[in-house]
Amino acid sequence: MREVSLRDSNPEQAGGGASEESSNRRRGFDYLIVGAGFAGSVLAERLATGLNKRVLVVDRRPHIAGNAYDHYDEAGVLIHRYGPHIFHTNAQRIVDYLSQFTEWRPYEHRVLAQVDGQEVPIPINMTTLNKLYGLNMTTEEQAADFLASRAEPVENIQTSEDVVINGIGRELYQKFFRGYTRKQWGLDPSQLDKSVTSRIPTRTNTDDRYFTDTFQQMPKYGYTKMFEKMLAHPNIKVMINTDYREIRDEVQFDHLIFCGPIDEYFDYRFGKLPYRSLKFEHKQLDQEQFQAVGTVNYPSEDVPYTRISEYKHLTGQVHPKTSVTYEYPAAEGDPYYPIPRPENAELYKRYQQLADETPGVTFVGRLGTYKYYNMDQVVGQALAVYKRIEEAEQGPAAGESAEHARSLADQAP
Ligand code: FAD
Ligand code: UDP
Repeated sequence: MREVSLRDSNPEQAGGGASEESSNRRRGFDYLIVGAGFAGSVLAERLATGLNKRVLVVDRRPHIAGNAYDHYDEAGVLIHRYGPHIFHTNAQRIVDYLSQFTEWRPYEHRVLAQVDGQEVPIPINMTTLNKLYGLNMTTEEQAADFLASRAEPVENIQTSEDVVINGIGRELYQKFFRGYTRKQWGLDPSQLDKSVTSRIPTRTNTDDRYFTDTFQQMPKYGYTKMFEKMLAHPNIKVMINTDYREIRDEVQFDHLIFCGPIDEYFDYRFGKLPYRSLKFEHKQLDQEQFQAVGTVNYPSEDVPYTRISEYKHLTGQVHPKTSVTYEYPAAEGDPYYPIPRPENAELYKRYQQLADETPGVTFVGRLGTYKYYNMDQVVGQALAVYKRIEEAEQGPAAGESAEHARSLADQAP
């Protein structure tokens, strides 16, 4: 067995003593996990705690927590480096799992959209319609009738354009969805799966929350603190600033869990899977509050960014200054969003098949499985993967049924 040379971060791995203990130490790792985001960190924690596995987690970024990474900026305000991350889920089990590593702060996200010179609630609700059209509707029936009178039925709903026009008509589609989507994805809504704009419902009541999930809460001390606890197990070693390619030939491991882009792992053998990127502009402002709610969306194509988020709404932090992030969609840069459309799904299938034929490696997470997943869905997916590993080792009697665990991952759009 080849010895492990792990530079300075894990000197005991390179030891060469003759005792049984040191030969165990030289054994290397049971699992190498690429990516310290939700997918990688949940699996590392489960494998270490649940199966006593020795795990090495590497991430090429200079921090853990993946896209959920948060930190205090120069002004002392807690911000999210990769844009606003709001935790919401309907799955009690996922809350229970994460609650081992954090306390929570209740938070219901609210979003306004700047349309026709006004800021109005999005998802579109009765208040939105009253404000935009100078109406005074008071019942859900009135709002439903109004929307029905505008909707333009589409027979075969396939795209992100179809689903909105079918629900609320072309005018509202153009005001709220067309420009935002064209900016965000660099594609017209007619070129995107219906699942994308279907994330945003339309309401006939006055509920102005962005999400209606049972659980809506933020980790009380931030995401990074939660990840620190998740990874604080003696069997888990973490190496940041480390690309998988730098260490794959240096480290001894039995199994690989890859949470980076699946096409990158296979050296783009079938061509690049398209991802959409963003540039984040973080600003610190010498004022206590910048905007009325956590996020304001800017659907107009005349504005280069899609949204501005102000973190103090999310975190509840009290501070004389405030910090905001502007999101500018970009074709180049870190891969943040898989792009849901049929040709991409086809290409992904080819990689997935290759993955199925590649022993010893499991792909997990938003990039590893090319799925537009929210955080809770990635946690569910990682727990389901863990269950399968656990059952393979201990039989189905161990823990709960894989079927149940898998159902956690099935909330995907
Ligand atoms: P990631 O967090 O992307 O982690 C993958 C990690 O792998 C990265 O840190 C990367 O550096 C590392 N990596 C990749 N390749 C390599 C390599 N070769 N070597 C070493 N390391 C590598 N979800 C919500 O539920 N609510 C929200 O409000 C929300 N808002 C979002 C806002 C934005 C702008 C974005 C982009 C996403 C948002 N999400 C939100 C989604 C959320 O970020 C993801 O669901 C979640 O972070 C995915 O976790 P992951 O572990 O799959 O991937
Ligand atoms: N969307 C839109 N207008 C909005 C908000 C959302 O057109 O004001 C569309 C857009 O295509 C966006 C998608 O709905 O990419 C999903 O929005 P969500 O807020 O869920 O995006 P995320 O937070 O994942 O970036």
